[in-house]
Amino acid sequence: MTRTVYVNGDYLPETEAKVSIFDRAFLMADGVYEVTSVLDGKLIDFAGHATRLQRSLSELDMRAPCDMDELLEIHRELVRVNDIDEGLVYLQITRGAPGDRDFVFPDPETTEPTIVLFTQNKPGLADNPAARKGLKILSIEDQRWGRRDIKTVQLLYPSMGKMKARKAGCDDAWMVEDGFVTEGTSNNAYIVKGNRIITRALSSDILHGITRAAVLRFAAEAQMEIEERNFSIAEAQEADEAFITSASAFVMPVVEIDGAVLGDGTPGMRSTRLREIYLEESRKTAI
Ligand code: PMP
Repeated sequence: MTRTVYVNGDYLPETEAKVSIFDRAFLMADGVYEVTSVLDGKLIDFAGHATRLQRSLSELDMRAPCDMDELLEIHRELVRVNDIDEGLVYLQITRGAPGDRDFVFPDPETTEPTIVLFTQNKPGLADNPAARKGLKILSIEDQRWGRRDIKTVQLLYPSMGKMKARKAGCDDAWMVEDGFVTEGTSNNAYIVKGNRIITRALSSDILHGITRAAVLRFAAEAQMEIEERNFSIAEAQEADEAFITSASAFVMPVVEIDGAVLGDGTPGMRSTRLREIYLEESRKTAI
């Protein structure tokens, strides 16, 4: 089946969807994005993603091409026409295509933002076998720009990090700055010690994960304590458990960090329980 995608007001077959070569995201990574997961044909935490999108746009002085109700309708329509039961909706908004290349932002009165959405069908997203195996993590230096709280499409360094991890026989990389873990290449990072979940506090050093917010909320309800503070790779290697969160991985246990095996090398009890709680609770409020 040819995928139907959304580009600047039109629903089109993916083969007919086009964006200008002068688009600011193509030339300058001048764009923001969101990824919302779909379970049982419904959107998980759409409100969280919409709120973060508005913040990303406002931090970059970028205009929203439509309001959030319209955005929800586009998400739902794409899920419907592409018959997505489990998968993702990718959304990207850019500063548009001013018709030439210039470092100066184009006038928003004359250059419309570009908006693109497409679905990714991922049957088995919730019942991911990786969650039963756990991830192996490689640490790398964090060499990204300083506004990681804005969800921009500048993903080259995280992409290189993932490749470095794969080459080293790992599944993903955790980035380290000034001796402390910032986050994973496309996820937030956590360690567990006893009943305590430890994760870096929010700042411009990390993306404010929508899954992170939900997991910390559910963890508090499950009587787990939360400590928002920096941790090092050495501390993580000594932790009882570790895990990552993202809209597409949900809660994913980590079993190895730079060759050091955590616990017995299988996903920890608390990480596994948090994944179950997250999936259960998120399905309840999906729209
Ligand atoms: N940090 C980074 C760098 C990410 O790219 C992502 C996923 N987009 C996350 C954290 C997790 O955020 P979310 O839970 O909103 O998917």
